[in-house]
Amino acid sequence: MSSVAVIGAGIGGLATAVRAASEGREVTVFEAAPEVGGKLRELHLEGYRFDLGPSLFTWPDLLLDTLQKAGQHAAPFEYTKLDRSCHYFWPDNTRFTAWSDKDKLAQEIEHAFGVDPAPVIDHLERSALGFEATRGLFLEQSLHEPSSWTPKNTLRHLGQAWKGRKALPLTQTLDQWNARTGHEKLRQLFNRYATYNGSDPYRAPAMLHVIPHLEFGMGTFSPKGGMHAIVKALHTTALNLGVTIHTDTPVERIITAGGRVQGVRTPKGDHRADVVVSGADVTPTYRRMLPGHRAPEQILKAESSTSGVIFYWGVKHPAPELHLHNILWAQDYKAEFEALFQQETIAEDPTVYINIGSRTSPEDAPQGAGNWFVMVNAPAGWKTSGLDDLRKRVMAKILRMTGIDVAQHLACEHVLTPDDIASRTGSHRGALYGPASNKPTSAFLRHRNRDRRIGGLYFVGGSVHPGGGIPLCLLGARITHELMEHHDPC
Ligand SMILES: Cc1cc2nc3c(=O)[nH]c(=O)nc-3n(C[C@H](O)[C@H](O)[C@H](O)COP(=O)(O)OP(=O)(O)OC[C@H]3O[C@@H](n4cnc5c(N)ncnc54)[C@H](O)[C@@H]3O)c2cc1C
Repeated sequence: MSSVAVIGAGIGGLATAVRAASEGREVTVFEAAPEVGGKLRELHLEGYRFDLGPSLFTWPDLLLDTLQKAGQHAAPFEYTKLDRSCHYFWPDNTRFTAWSDKDKLAQEIEHAFGVDPAPVIDHLERSALGFEATRGLFLEQSLHEPSSWTPKNTLRHLGQAWKGRKALPLTQTLDQWNARTGHEKLRQLFNRYATYNGSDPYRAPAMLHVIPHLEFGMGTFSPKGGMHAIVKALHTTALNLGVTIHTDTPVERIITAGGRVQGVRTPKGDHRADVVVSGADVTPTYRRMLPGHRAPEQILKAESSTSGVIFYWGVKHPAPELHLHNILWAQDYKAEFEALFQQETIAEDPTVYINIGSRTSPEDAPQGAGNWFVMVNAPAGWKTSGLDDLRKRVMAKILRMTGIDVAQHLACEHVLTPDDIASRTGSHRGALYGPASNKPTSAFLRHRNRDRRIGGLYFVGGSVHPGGGIPLCLLGARITHELMEHHDPC
């Protein structure tokens, strides 16, 4: 039986382990941290439970598909569809609820902005068309394998793209494309989707216009038990399939000989394997675990996606005006991205995202209180300074825009900075989504899922193709597994 060593028990590593074990491979996962989950770990603090990383769950079919591969070994996973994706608050008191229902959304657009909703509905239809036209080419296959570019495959994808060509803005930035929504606040709202992969809407290509379709077209969801339930389902399924998982076991080296992997080295000893899959960030994988091999420098030097400063606050206040996902906008959104990507600092007045998980999982906070996840975007590699000042500014903004004095009702606090994210998950410079997608060529410049020079070495997760975020990491696990089946069959 072919053996696989997986480095890292983040969502990418766990999903690959489940797929490989479902095909009958002997799989061992090595995780540096004391627990599995990577960025999706959780924190229990004074009666509150917090998801440390992702709060937005989209495209659940990808998780179900991964679990279904395990058949009877699959752990249960339950979730519900939400009736709205987000509540938006502007400094001038404009408020807007992004309803999932199209008619309700249209009414809300007229009510909040006093404009004809038709251009926005058309914008969303273009997003759906663009998504369907490009998903096969960019998201569901490797971009770097000759098999992806056979004449038959290429013609099929080009055919799809041709059908959806009206929806494919090829030369504009996302911000320029979003001007067609007909209102500056709606343009800003759609610009925010660039942050779903840590990019800058004023530079990122308009091809990112496909992202809103995930929310508005396919829907937003809430896992029963919070976001960490995603990790629990994958972890339990992996164990049910007989996967061995070693936590507190960092991989120091990927052992190679004769142009092929031989296994991995950890402080506890060497482990032999036919195939090695790195679910750790690609930069430390090359720099630390493969010191004798030439690293793909151009790819490793790519501009990083954003990181974040996250305040996890237990708040003893019912906060009825806040829902599961809330955005308190910056006064000057463009200046915020100039600060993040050019000045490499956090804007004076940053956009503040508040997620209150206990809205859908009441057991995560005491009655009448909430488990607030409050995040501002920060540059990757940001050297933490002025955290107290940032906290004060964020609390003042929340007070100004919602009337809630968090400081008065604060029960407990935990904070994560870019440095913390880097040290806890091994993520290069603490970036949330690997390299940014600020250039039209970014998709092609992400690292491939199979190493060209070292036989049996594969890559998965947010720093490699097709990208970061839960859905893309799950798609990446599917692509990586398919490549493994082709090049290193069981
Ligand atoms: C604050 C925050 C908010 C986010 N919000 C969202 C969201 O709302 N929706 C969304 O879809 N995505 C979101 N993301 C992004 C998403 O969390 C990531 O893209 C995804 O979880 C990455 O998974 P991964 O498997 O690639 O990596 P990780 O989760 O980083 O896992 C990598 C694992 O490898 C381990 N590791 C590293 N080096 C070694 C080694 N040498 N040996 C052994 N193990 C090692 C690490 O300890 C870690 O457990 C967010 C991320 C953060 C941090």
